[in-house]
Amino acid sequence: MDIIGSAEHISRQLSRFSRVNLAYFPTPMERLDRIGGELGVELWIKRDDFMPLAFGGNKLRKLEFTLGDAIARESDVIVTTGAVISNHARLTTAAARKVGLDVVLVLRGRDSFPMDVKGNLLLDHLLGADVRVYDIGREEVDRALKEVAGELRNKGRRPYILPTGGATPVGVLGYVNAALELACQMEELGIDVDYVVHSTGTGGTQAGLVLGFRLLDLPVEVLGFSDGTPAGWLEENTLRLARGAEKILGVEGLVRRRDITVVDGYSREGFGVVTGDVVKVMKLFARREALLLDTVYTGKAMFGLISMVEDGKLDRGSRIIFIHTGGTPLIFHLDDIILKEGDL
Ligand SMILES: *Cc1c(COP(=O)(O)O)cnc(C)c1O
Repeated sequence: MDIIGSAEHISRQLSRFSRVNLAYFPTPMERLDRIGGELGVELWIKRDDFMPLAFGGNKLRKLEFTLGDAIARESDVIVTTGAVISNHARLTTAAARKVGLDVVLVLRGRDSFPMDVKGNLLLDHLLGADVRVYDIGREEVDRALKEVAGELRNKGRRPYILPTGGATPVGVLGYVNAALELACQMEELGIDVDYVVHSTGTGGTQAGLVLGFRLLDLPVEVLGFSDGTPAGWLEENTLRLARGAEKILGVEGLVRRRDITVVDGYSREGFGVVTGDVVKVMKLFARREALLLDTVYTGKAMFGLISMVEDGKLDRGSRIIFIHTGGTPLIFHLDDIILKEGDL
């Protein structure tokens, strides 16, 4: 079967799941000739930051399916979590509002991000989330989510818990769909791609892409650049999510351990820690291509990609699609660090 034919077939399987409409697809693909030329690679960018709802980003693809599931289960309030700078918190609030659901945010205040109400946190308030900041670390989040859900149930509400990043097997379907979309665009544009590259944090995006390409039997290598989360944990979690998604799709054993590659050697000191190299890459992209990257996800991933090409770990002449996963409002939350490191 040709790619478009099999993509249509898988699309029909996906249409069995309840889904809400949150963006216009396909998102655009652009060729970055200026930076690609300087690096000696063919570089494309898929603009998953280009979605009209509340500045967009990868989380909306997952939310189309998870909120569809929440509505099918007759939930009336979404309970989710993230750091105070979370893109997922902002987009969950926006998407839930759009379809008439309430949102309670359980935000971690112990990650040493600025607590000022700006960037995503400002938008969470503007969009009307019930914002609760807890002095807890990642390991205490599950308990806090359950407590909030219990409190809501006692008040007669019907809560739906979404874990960090919206990373559930149902959410993964959003990026299975994105893989189909990409495959069709590659065929239409005549791109024979070597690598699909993106920022990874929970593994949901990568699990969907890898599973989508396996369903299509398309030999594309997906490289996830870690946001600072250790690669070993992330690869395991990605595999777990991919297997979960296989199960609900009624397929088995498609995604193998070796299909999942996470690179963490370029994400420096850890999640949210910003270094001058990343800000330098943000400046380069802003000035050469007028493309805006952020300090936590897309800037780090692009720094990793450029470093791998420069270090000879990715061949010159490679054909690469970088997925811009969004995160624009982070620029306006971590502005101090950009000014400090950026020498603007
Ligand atoms: C959440 C996020 C990621 C990571 O996506 P996962 O599916 O959680 O791995 C990457 N980029 C941006 C901008 C994000 O907000």
